[in-house]
Amino acid sequence: MKFIFADSLDYVDPAFDFIADRSAAERQPYWDDAYPHEILGYAPYDGVLVSKGIVGDHRVKGKYTASQARRFELVGVRKFLRLDKPQFAHLDIFGDCGAFTYASEAKPPYSPAEIAEFYDECGFTHGCSVDHIIFDFNSSDAGMEGGSNDAKDRFEITLENADNFRREALSIGAAFTPMGVVQGWSPGSMAEAARRLVGMGYDYLALGGMVPLKSPEIKLCLAAIREVVPASTRLHILGFAKADDIDSFHSYDIASFDTTSPLIRAFKDAKQNYYLPGPDARLRYFTSIRVPQAIENPRLQRSVKRGVLRAEDLIAMEAAALKALRAYDRGEADLEETLHNVMVYTAPLAEEKPYEDCHATVGMMKLAERYRATLAAKPWKECSCSICEHASVDVIIFRGSNRNKRRGIHNLAVYKNHIERLDLKRAVI
Ligand SMILES: [Zn+2]
Repeated sequence: MKFIFADSLDYVDPAFDFIADRSAAERQPYWDDAYPHEILGYAPYDGVLVSKGIVGDHRVKGKYTASQARRFELVGVRKFLRLDKPQFAHLDIFGDCGAFTYASEAKPPYSPAEIAEFYDECGFTHGCSVDHIIFDFNSSDAGMEGGSNDAKDRFEITLENADNFRREALSIGAAFTPMGVVQGWSPGSMAEAARRLVGMGYDYLALGGMVPLKSPEIKLCLAAIREVVPASTRLHILGFAKADDIDSFHSYDIASFDTTSPLIRAFKDAKQNYYLPGPDARLRYFTSIRVPQAIENPRLQRSVKRGVLRAEDLIAMEAAALKALRAYDRGEADLEETLHNVMVYTAPLAEEKPYEDCHATVGMMKLAERYRATLAAKPWKECSCSICEHASVDVIIFRGSNRNKRRGIHNLAVYKNHIERLDLKRAVI
């Protein structure tokens, strides 16, 4: 089972100064920063997925700057992602259209011919057909029952595009493997889409629209599809947000899936921010310790404006929290003293809503308990990845993109190892 990382320019500054809390003034992000496979010294994934919608162009505003998008098309995906070295030659590079970026439009802005050309010219190894997201989902609709008119339109557009896309790929002698995207509003309609895609000649299908679905719903779709396609048909799950549940999917014979989940959870999850391998091929999770930048945090700044806090006190509390964490890491401060310093700084944050990415109802007591568990375990000392070795306690501090994304990249490494352990466990069974 291949773990494909959906890239969205997730690089960090390898020279970031944690003590001064800044990058060098002359740093140029894309050129000087390091992708996960650069900072770790190996690829923590079996491949990378790049969405056309993330690259962007004059029709769809992507995440790349105009000059990055130009460079991408000029040098190709492998060189752009700096995966053009022999040790990365085995990695797959998947492309899709990023249907979420044009989901509100009546039709996809791209034609199958131009997307086939885009994948081919940029050197992708696998390319998904031009799909259109269906938002409705009803697991109890049988067969082709149900589905709004809009869902049915999108269903037909996706299949018609898939047929044209495969023909285009063949006619230009494309080197990439074409993948037919399945869109539907129910397990039955997805199975019908899969049956038609196989009929067109596809032997690798990608299930789209999975992001909002829960694991049991995804399993219903996979089961319905598996019933109608040959055993040799490979299945990919696009945007698999339930990546940590992957073990429970093993009977569906998934060839590959893409996700950003281990990276994103480092800074979007309320509790599970730092991964470590656990017993019985499970993952263990730790809550990272929030020490936001006093001068940049809007909630703290509101407290200052309202006169609840003085800016200089806030900065002193922030410095004390960071100093305590570093002293604790060196064995020069005890746990309770460290936790106290962190919580003193956390209190004003929790007075409004706790933090941007946490639930408002999280109590200070519960949070302190989670922080206590993290500090007691010192999980960053258990990891030998180059990020944890270098950043030490800073990897667990929830503060700015250089720490948060480093923690996310560490999670990718743990997750890749988790997938390998699961594959091994199954091979033994
Ligand atoms: Zn690590």
